[in-house]
Amino acid sequence: MPRFIVIGGGAIGLNTAYRLARMQSGQVTLLDKGLVGDGSSSRAGGIITGLLWSETGVLARMISLRLYQELSADLERYGYRFQNVGCLNLFDPASWTEREALLPLYDRLGFAYEVLDAAQMRRRWPDLTPEADLIGLHDALGGYSEPHEFVPALARRCRDLGVEIRENAGVNGLQIENGRVVGVQTAMGLLEADVVICTVHAWTAAFMERCGVRLPVKSFVHQRYVSSELQERVSIPAINANPYGGYIRPARLGTTDFRILAGGETEDREEERVDGPAFHMSVLSAPRSLRSHLSKNLAPLVPKLAATHWETEQVGLISFSLDSEPVLGKLPQLPGLVVGAAFHSGGFAYSPVAGLLLAELAAGKSPSVDISSFSPGRFTAEETDAYLATTVVQADAFRRRH
Ligand SMILES: Cc1cc2nc3c(=O)[nH]c(=O)nc-3n(C[C@H](O)[C@H](O)[C@H](O)COP(=O)(O)OP(=O)(O)OC[C@H]3O[C@@H](n4cnc5c(N)ncnc54)[C@H](O)[C@@H]3O)c2cc1C
Repeated sequence: MPRFIVIGGGAIGLNTAYRLARMQSGQVTLLDKGLVGDGSSSRAGGIITGLLWSETGVLARMISLRLYQELSADLERYGYRFQNVGCLNLFDPASWTEREALLPLYDRLGFAYEVLDAAQMRRRWPDLTPEADLIGLHDALGGYSEPHEFVPALARRCRDLGVEIRENAGVNGLQIENGRVVGVQTAMGLLEADVVICTVHAWTAAFMERCGVRLPVKSFVHQRYVSSELQERVSIPAINANPYGGYIRPARLGTTDFRILAGGETEDREEERVDGPAFHMSVLSAPRSLRSHLSKNLAPLVPKLAATHWETEQVGLISFSLDSEPVLGKLPQLPGLVVGAAFHSGGFAYSPVAGLLLAELAAGKSPSVDISSFSPGRFTAEETDAYLATTVVQADAFRRRH
């Protein structure tokens, strides 16, 4: 029976382990250097839309949206449900031109969307007051997942499906014999595997560099906030609100506890260099001023926000590759290894389909989507070295929301 080792217990690693277990392809062990959900996954906003900018991205997200519905049914008894409130992507007239050019792609792929003007948006969501010149691109299948529900529910389901999850079990390196990955080195010794799947997110570049492979991936600090309790549920979808400098959605702490979640970036902050396994996201912090900045920016869009204050803050990392598309696939120079990383600010949204694709590749099956444009081998050594030698500030990285 083949043995699979998944490194990393975030949304991507857990979905991979879940899919491998569901495929009954072999024995699955998931290792995390800390606790499951210790990285960005428990800190995410959990927003998902299928309306991306590349054909591969849209096709992949169509699968993710379907899988989120299925996961919702499978994980209900574990306390998770996908919040199908739709996702509204907002544009000002200048940024709409670029997005409008993608509508024929959505039509060709059969992805349903609606283009709404401000009056239509105000009528549909009474708690939403967008500026008169804004355009809304609505994805009725989108919505959000609460990370504090999704991550533990999926971990429990994985265990029940027979996945061995080992926490506080960091991987120090890959075991390579005759040019092939045959296992991982840990503090407990060598663990052998037929295929290793690396899903260590912000740690990927440093981890792979130690194995002799350079990947052009950079990480940036990102933060999101949950408000104090509201008197009643806020009637808004999940919103990628670029004209307001962030994103905002309803939030749930329980079945009757309604709040608002919002987040955004810090434009002038430099990339965060994660140089080894000792790094933990708990060391990250966000400038205090961002709280009032977000409230001031987003309250004109969602006036109910003005009556709240931010109660909790989560700070983590988002990762971008050189061309801002994910890095997902086999590494030509290291057979026996599959990598999934650099999901920009959309790793939570990608996670069900990324898990499926990684599991398919690991099990030797054809991937459900042609992912050649996500191939880890698509970058030249020269462009990789040049990219890694520069220091990028957030404002100069791609703004690719969810
Ligand atoms: C504030 C914030 C808001 C976000 N909002 C959204 C959103 O609304 N929608 C969306 O789609 N995405 C969002 N994202 C992005 C999303 O959180 C990430 O893309 C996604 O969680 C990445 O999942 P992952 O499993 O790859 O990484 P992680 O969850 O970071 O998991 C990686 C795991 O690898 C482990 N690890 C690292 N090195 C080793 C090692 N050597 N050995 C063993 N284990 C190791 C770590 O401990 C960690 O648990 C947001 C991110 C942030 C920070």
